[in-house]
Amino acid sequence: MSYLRYCLDCKKGIADLHVHSTASDGHYSPYELAKMAQRKGLQYLAITDHDTTAGLEQLENMKEPRLLEIIPGIELSTEYEGHEIHILGYSLDYNNTKLQDTLKTLAVARRERVYRIVKKLQEAGFMITIEDIKTHAVDAVSLGRPHVALALLEKGLVSSISEAFEKLLTKGRPGYVARYRILPQEAISLIIGAGGYPVLAHPGSGFDLKLLPILIKEGLLGLEVFYPQHNLEMQEYYYQIAQINNLLITGGSDFHGHEGNDNSFFGNIPIPAYTISLLTRTSKNR
Ligand code: AMP
Ligand code: FE
Ligand code: FE
Ligand code: ZN
Repeated sequence: MSYLRYCLDCKKGIADLHVHSTASDGHYSPYELAKMAQRKGLQYLAITDHDTTAGLEQLENMKEPRLLEIIPGIELSTEYEGHEIHILGYSLDYNNTKLQDTLKTLAVARRERVYRIVKKLQEAGFMITIEDIKTHAVDAVSLGRPHVALALLEKGLVSSISEAFEKLLTKGRPGYVARYRILPQEAISLIIGAGGYPVLAHPGSGFDLKLLPILIKEGLLGLEVFYPQHNLEMQEYYYQIAQINNLLITGGSDFHGHEGNDNSFFGNIPIPAYTISLLTRTSKNR
């Protein structure tokens, strides 16, 4: 039974298509996420770590039979003329060499960036070390500011993760270091090259719609219409934009699982049945 007037085949509680694990900046391991999704009764889960597919490899090595189907995913951080744009990729062959070569470069750049952030913070009088950060990033292939924020919080140097970002880690603050980023066009072509579906993540988080035709021309296939920070008006708006442009309508919670986050959206975002059947048909065909 659908409850969205404009999306007749939308359902909640079947799938979550946007989730982060310990391979990037999530709190739970891929295995824990799979178990949690199963307990919630989800049938499909896409793990979409920032700039890494290491979490998917961890799940592949697990022999335990599962009712849950994992949709291979990723969320690539890109930049276009000063705009930060996140591109999700679904049902991709994550062993693709070109993709993995780029991910290796990004992982090294992210690691070096964290070293530079630590140095800048130390210079500004915040005494954290790279070891402090590593304790919050044991399985992280893709290091990021959230790991630094957690270390600052643990050391009592800030009183919350959001304070760490606002006071120290965003542009213009003492611990800010820009990240090496690829272009959204490159991200789209990498995902397509690996046989996946490129989808624009959370357009409501500051995406300039004027850029949409550029991404579509490059091969963008979907739009993340359903997202915790999209209110009903935004959902309807992006739903229309997706339809007009023939884009696949997706949704996901962007669950990171950290204490203090609103974690209630995990597995609780509407997703059209058509989207799931398309994404899973592709992964089964490999
Ligand atoms: P990075 O990829 O290292 O630049 O870090 C970006 C990640 O930090 C995002 O994907 C979010 O998970 C997280 N993040 C960004 N801004 C904030 C904020 N203000 N508070 C908490 N987490 C944030
Ligand atoms: Fe994140
Ligand atoms: Fe994102
Ligand atoms: Zn995300």
